[in-house]
Amino acid sequence: MKIVVANSIGRDRKGNYIIHSPSRWSEAVKNKYHWFAYYPWELAYLSALLKHETKHRVKFVDGCLMRLGGKDYYKHIIAESPDMLVIESATRMIEENVELALKVKAATGAKIVFVGPHASAFPQKLIDMGIDYVCVGEYELTVLEIVQSKKRNEILGLYPNVRRPLLDIKKLPWPEDNDVSRLEYAYPGEPSSEFREIQMYATRGCPGSCNFCVARHVYYNKANWRPREVTDVINEIKHLRDKYPLMQGVFFDEEVHNADRQFVFKLTEAIIENGLSDLRFEAMCDVRFLDAQVMRAMKNAGYYKLRIGIESASEKVMKAMGKTIDLEKIVNTLKTAKSIGLKTYGTFTFGALGSDVKEDEKTIKLMRDLIKNNLLDNLQLSICTPQPGTPFYEHVRRNSLLRKNIEACDYDGGIFAVIDYPNYTHRQIEAMKRKALVIRDHYFMNKRIKDKGVRDWIISAFRRYGWWGVSTKAFLRIINELCFVKIIKLNKKNRF
Ligand code: SF4
Repeated sequence: MKIVVANSIGRDRKGNYIIHSPSRWSEAVKNKYHWFAYYPWELAYLSALLKHETKHRVKFVDGCLMRLGGKDYYKHIIAESPDMLVIESATRMIEENVELALKVKAATGAKIVFVGPHASAFPQKLIDMGIDYVCVGEYELTVLEIVQSKKRNEILGLYPNVRRPLLDIKKLPWPEDNDVSRLEYAYPGEPSSEFREIQMYATRGCPGSCNFCVARHVYYNKANWRPREVTDVINEIKHLRDKYPLMQGVFFDEEVHNADRQFVFKLTEAIIENGLSDLRFEAMCDVRFLDAQVMRAMKNAGYYKLRIGIESASEKVMKAMGKTIDLEKIVNTLKTAKSIGLKTYGTFTFGALGSDVKEDEKTIKLMRDLIKNNLLDNLQLSICTPQPGTPFYEHVRRNSLLRKNIEACDYDGGIFAVIDYPNYTHRQIEAMKRKALVIRDHYFMNKRIKDKGVRDWIISAFRRYGWWGVSTKAFLRIINELCFVKIIKLNKKNRF
């Protein structure tokens, strides 16, 4: 049997580029200089597992990496003559991905398996649309058992059967690196990665329970945290480094890299002992488990940047979203990280449960202060989107807060808000995020020019995007400054 394991379509019907963040959500960007590809890690583990455990011919394809729209992706998949197509989709692209899959089924007779966030949230809807198998939650072993022709009613995690227990990630082979090159995901690379970093996974899961989190609620259905064997992680890094001499570092793009201090100590010691500390590492971290000792160990092992979820400056919002960290701890951790010589990156979100104009303005002010005080080097902004399957989604649905005429493609936390709170409309939420973006870019640009000059900015933008990219980015910067002036005028009393 020929099995095609496919990531989502990479360009939507309007020609936007899709950035599919596995186990989080998909977003679209208009400008190709804002595009990059996340390594679709769970699909990549699945592909490797199927190759390892079965004799079937398996082909991994990534429409996002190839930036393929539905028509071209269809041709690409059909050329493989699949007997089975496994495809992952978030809600943002579900309609187009289902259309593509059904066309493949009509043309080849292939069985279609849907996995990922939308499939986990609405399995029956996909069955009703003609999809053959729908997997709920973490899906590697579920798909393996489908492929092994286990009886349908005995396959845990295959709808309508109950979920399967979370898998032992120590038993997984290293993820797919033959049909795609893992290094390719570093060109141009996640925008905040400063080196040619391969995306890697030393752990899986998170002990937290934020109400909007797709990984926590849709994939795992419970708080959990599972580390791999340190020796296996080290061997994978060594293997990648040997295979890709151009590799400069590793981005541990997990839910939480550091939930166990002892794990971090063991991993960082092993990195040093194995002569890997000249690589540059960055990791998604939880501020609750960061202290000076842990951060020093990371710095000594070559970590250059820590990414943490800040999300909101509002206690009310933090409480409503189920995040149990306080601002003082965040600020102190950022200060300690900077004093140790680590760079910092924070995520902020707008329109979460409990938010309104006043609460989200607090977040913009915090963001501005952290940039001005040199406590953040990069940051990500999003609209807090109630992705189906999360408690956040259930809450807004039950309380009829979803805006009218909503479409699947609106579940895009980069651009659109899908909630109308009684005192905070979706338009206001979208405007709040745009405002935050303008302010962020203004202050970072100012800081960069002050620290390093315009020449440095041009050179680094050229290295990443070429001349046309530099020109486009320069033009966008000018527009941003004009917007900033407009915001200042509107906020005379409340200067940013
Ligand atoms: S801390 Fe991050 S990974 Fe953990 S539940 Fe919250 S959003 Fe999800």
